Amino acid sequence: MTIEKDSVSSLRNRATSRNPRHFNVPLDNLGLPKKVSDYYGELTFDFKTSEDISDATKKEIIKALDEGRGIKKDHAEAIAKAVTDWAVRNGATHFCHWFQPLTGGTAEKHDAFFSLKDGKPIERLSASQLMQGEPDASSFPNGGSRSTFEARGYTTWDLTSPMFLIETTNGRTLCIPTAFVSYFGESLDIKTPLLKSISKLSPAATKFLQLAGHKETTSVHVTCGAEQEYFLVDKAFYYARPDLVMTGRTLFGALTTRNQQLEDHYFGLIPDRVLAFMQELDYELHRLGIPSKTRHNEVAPGQFEMAPIFSEANVASDNNQMIMTTMRRIAEKHDMMVLLHEKPFAGINGSGKHVNWSMSDDTGLNLLEPGSEPQSNLRFLATVAVIVEALHRYSKPLRMAISGAGNDHRLGANEAPPSIISAYLGDTLDKIFHTIMEDKSFTPRSNNVIDLGTNQLAHLLQDNTDRNRTSPFAFTGNKFEFRAVGSSHAIGFPMTILNAAVTDIFNEANAYLEAEQAKGQTVDQSLMSLIKKLMGNSMKAVFNGDGYSKEWVAEAARRGLPNLRTTPEALKTMTNAEDYSFLVRNGIFKAEEVTTRYNILLERYIKIREIEFETMIDMIHQYVIPSGLEYKSVLANLIKGQKEIGVASNFEMDAYKKVSTKIDEIHSLSTNLQKELSGDHSDHQKYAEKIGSELMTMVTTMAGICNELEELIPNQFYTLPKYYDMLFLR
Ligand code: ADP
Ligand code: MG
Repeated sequence: MTIEKDSVSSLRNRATSRNPRHFNVPLDNLGLPKKVSDYYGELTFDFKTSEDISDATKKEIIKALDEGRGIKKDHAEAIAKAVTDWAVRNGATHFCHWFQPLTGGTAEKHDAFFSLKDGKPIERLSASQLMQGEPDASSFPNGGSRSTFEARGYTTWDLTSPMFLIETTNGRTLCIPTAFVSYFGESLDIKTPLLKSISKLSPAATKFLQLAGHKETTSVHVTCGAEQEYFLVDKAFYYARPDLVMTGRTLFGALTTRNQQLEDHYFGLIPDRVLAFMQELDYELHRLGIPSKTRHNEVAPGQFEMAPIFSEANVASDNNQMIMTTMRRIAEKHDMMVLLHEKPFAGINGSGKHVNWSMSDDTGLNLLEPGSEPQSNLRFLATVAVIVEALHRYSKPLRMAISGAGNDHRLGANEAPPSIISAYLGDTLDKIFHTIMEDKSFTPRSNNVIDLGTNQLAHLLQDNTDRNRTSPFAFTGNKFEFRAVGSSHAIGFPMTILNAAVTDIFNEANAYLEAEQAKGQTVDQSLMSLIKKLMGNSMKAVFNGDGYSKEWVAEAARRGLPNLRTTPEALKTMTNAEDYSFLVRNGIFKAEEVTTRYNILLERYIKIREIEFETMIDMIHQYVIPSGLEYKSVLANLIKGQKEIGVASNFEMDAYKKVSTKIDEIHSLSTNLQKELSGDHSDHQKYAEKIGSELMTMVTTMAGICNELEELIPNQFYTLPKYYDMLFLR
């Protein structure tokens, strides 16, 4: 290929001459910019607030939902009619069932509202079109769950998540959130098991609260606020880096001299172009009824974060998918690309998605809010004990749920929590639990339960502002923060596993409390002995120190905590019934569905890595080696000329040799990698493990050599945008 010598510098000119995209919030009648409250949710349809549905119908639908029943056909018809009127009035021509297949993203199949009635065109969405769709499931990952001739799959309407309009340049489409299952009823998506896990957790947690003396509770829901980290790069550079386009990350690239050492980016001044993007993003999210709240620079240059106000877990999960899609769409308008990969740039921080998680009951009680009464403190402490035990006992499946090729670069690297699952409780809680376990200062009688000033627990914990940023699962005052989730992940899956794990321990705790109370123990006494029993077992999963340190890895090994370093190791959990049986027992997955998921995730891992390897080999041959050869030929001519006029070429010779050696090395390694790729890979688990260890070590070495070449070769011959270009947006 011919190298366009000036291509990167012309991209540089383009990227640095861009201005922030001007964007004005529409004006109201008085000519003032509209307030968020004027347009919040204008693109969503909630049957509860629709004026086209009668109050009686709304009430009946809500009742059916609360009782977990399906809704009646005529109610579905009422909603279908109201939403059609609303959508068409707002310019929508099509509707689609919007779902989350196991591709990591979302899918939609569009149909027109347009229909013919007695030969006349009308706009219509029938109740059955609203409630069920039938996309061809054979084109979505199914993990061999079904014989290939049976390709039918069904999408079924999820009434608990609002419908919304997506807006593109040339029109609007009504999106109906749906679950996606196979013809035989196996879940093929993120949503189905998430909904199941929430519906199983609710009765278990309700019963627990009642046994703990909180009799008013009749249901419990899961709350979630997911902080989303991301990188932005200029569009010009993005398309000039095949690795970004093909894999979402740079497969190599020399680190800039200044990167994040000065810690000046975190919470720093947001660049104009980026702030303009964030403003438009917030506007669009708010119109979609997504409560975007926080925006700031993150630690690495080019890295940012947004966080919404927390909501019900299923809605938060849908919202997070919409956030990722909307980010991509809006960024492009600003000539930037969003990188949601967990590790787009080696050597600097990667991106996570901190899944803040808690439970609330129908009386408004946050189960992780320490109360002001000693009584409620015991309930609170027992809830924490249940969660820590769940984390401890099901640490392998939880590690599995956050695995993925991208997150492997992040977990255990020095900015992300390690692949060892532990909980951070903070000093105060830690001390309280230890005191309880050691039977100190406690009289197990109701009024004088905690002699630690802990009836000021809420206060104490709130003051306890120390935040542990190195724990994969940290208690942060009134919720847990699952920090190990990857930035590109669908949060529904890790939440499903977490909900299931907690449900399992709630069930066990309920049986225990019932038995103890039947023996004549008071509520407080039974809670106290439950806490002792659970924490006695799971205290070893509590770690309040520096999770990034080498010492912790050694300490965790001493404590016998599993450390599943790579995705293939973590996925293996799904082949071991002992590890996953709680998912089956609690009705979240059938055993076959676990196998389906295992197959899909393992395949996905292998394919992602193969694409990375092939892209790397391509880039080495298309870019790195040609640049090196061009430099070599310049040096060779120079050396030849210098020889002719009798001048020594020490430096030139040295440079020539260095570049030559590196080119030979990279060429031979890439040939080896190519060979590995064309070998026999019939045992997928083994092959994936080999990729995760041997082959990844190999490509890390290759990336190192590419970086050395990048540093040796003068800029004018180097044909790829560098970290220098991509990390410092102006
Ligand atoms: P951080 O300092 O970690 O950035 P923030 O105060 O910004 O913490 O909150 C992070 C997220 O936690 C927000 O999305 C917030 O809405 C969410 N959050 C707060 N309370 C709860 C809760 N009870 N359940 C779930 N998420 C919550
Ligand atoms: Mg934050």
